[in-house]
Amino acid sequence: MTNQDLLSQLPEPKAVWERFFEICDVPHGSGNMTGIRSFLENFAKAYANVSFKTDTVGNVLLTKAADAGCESHPAVAFQCHMDMVCESNDANRDFLTKGIECQIEEKDGVRVMTANDTTLGADDGIGIAAGLAILVDTTVKSGVIELLCTVDEETTMEGAENIDTGFFTAKHLVNIDSEDEGVVTLGSAGGFDVELTKTVPTAPVTNPLLKISVDGLCGGHSGVEIHKPLGNAIKLLLNVLSKILGLPGVQLASISGGKATNAIPRSAHAIISAPADQHDAIKAAAATVEDIVPHRYTAESNVSVTASLFTTEEKCVVTTPQWTNSIVEGLNAVPCGVLMMSGSISGLVETSCNLGNVAFGDGKLVAQALARSSSNPSMARLHAAIKAMGELYTLDVSDPQGQFSGWDPRPEDALAKLTVDAVRAVLGREPKTEAIHAGLECGLLMDKYPELQAVSVGATVKYPHCPDELLEIDTVAPFYQVMVEIVKRIAKC
Ligand SMILES: [Zn+2]
Repeated sequence: MTNQDLLSQLPEPKAVWERFFEICDVPHGSGNMTGIRSFLENFAKAYANVSFKTDTVGNVLLTKAADAGCESHPAVAFQCHMDMVCESNDANRDFLTKGIECQIEEKDGVRVMTANDTTLGADDGIGIAAGLAILVDTTVKSGVIELLCTVDEETTMEGAENIDTGFFTAKHLVNIDSEDEGVVTLGSAGGFDVELTKTVPTAPVTNPLLKISVDGLCGGHSGVEIHKPLGNAIKLLLNVLSKILGLPGVQLASISGGKATNAIPRSAHAIISAPADQHDAIKAAAATVEDIVPHRYTAESNVSVTASLFTTEEKCVVTTPQWTNSIVEGLNAVPCGVLMMSGSISGLVETSCNLGNVAFGDGKLVAQALARSSSNPSMARLHAAIKAMGELYTLDVSDPQGQFSGWDPRPEDALAKLTVDAVRAVLGREPKTEAIHAGLECGLLMDKYPELQAVSVGATVKYPHCPDELLEIDTVAPFYQVMVEIVKRIAKC
């Protein structure tokens, strides 16, 4: 049984499902774009009014020429990504040469499409499929329609980040990579990493060592979960250290905590040296921080903050009390958590920062934070603040690294309004508008195309990026219909 054999069990629009199955047959995991690119090229070749081109990073643009009489209609670009996340419970599953085997199932009373033990790649295969279908839908009379297919969204977002300027011409861009029917996405966050570094003098240890440990936090995504009442293990550790800085003879040997800047740290540890008569006060400081956690961070219930004697066979050095002070207070000054809420979308975090990992040892400090904001001016201000704070404590603060742009929600844009109207007309209910506090390709594209208006819509996809990924079958027709409605309404712009 092949994927195409499932067609008879699927509703209209069959053309979308046919394209989807063809895409499933072409291996197209991130980094493996050659096959899908030639599939798109061959598709274009089969239609006289569809042209094909690629840019320097390998993005593909298919362009449907305007229909007769529609030449003056504004162009619209639909945008999807060519790559999929390849996950399977079978570690040996070959994604380089084998396509995806689809199946139809019923889950919680809903007919869904899933894959046999792999990700389905409906993220964003259903977007590509719907985009191809609308290009050649003879019932849709339109101006120019562009279908922009970017490379490697799931890993580096390189396609959106390094797209050639002038590669596409439309001023209205509809991203078709959302995963919720009835939701119109109007914004996303940009971000940058910032690094705090310093090499400081060290001396041999003369006092007993203590290990301060913060463990048992929930952790989470540093964007979409930053507003939750979660603790940051590094920040809690710094709280303890800050409380004991005034005690005589406290010197810092090491700090370690966190794994990646895009994750809220779950544990952090420090080794300090201190005279024996200060140990009770240090243990009390740890206990005080442990006590406040459940009140301040109500999502945390398992956090332990302890200080205990520590011995090691290895050579251990500490830095001076002055540098201990600078490092602890300098890191503590890095803003952490939600800094600003959006003024235009209720409940949306506009700006946040996550101190995501810290390593200090043998006199060398490297700490990294990830700042996010949907507003580029807010990002610039945040970087200036971190730099000023770090330098106040004589730490070196890097320029923004790996910066990507925010997509500031503009619900008043003509495209946003007509998309909301289109979804309402198709579904017969009020759509939800939202923005997310994480990165989307639209933000990067708007960087290179400042005049662009953008929205994002999609069919309902659940559990993307894991083998449980499913596509709700009955959301595909309305998704396609919304695209058709957008084309019709843009003609009147
Ligand atoms: Zn996607």
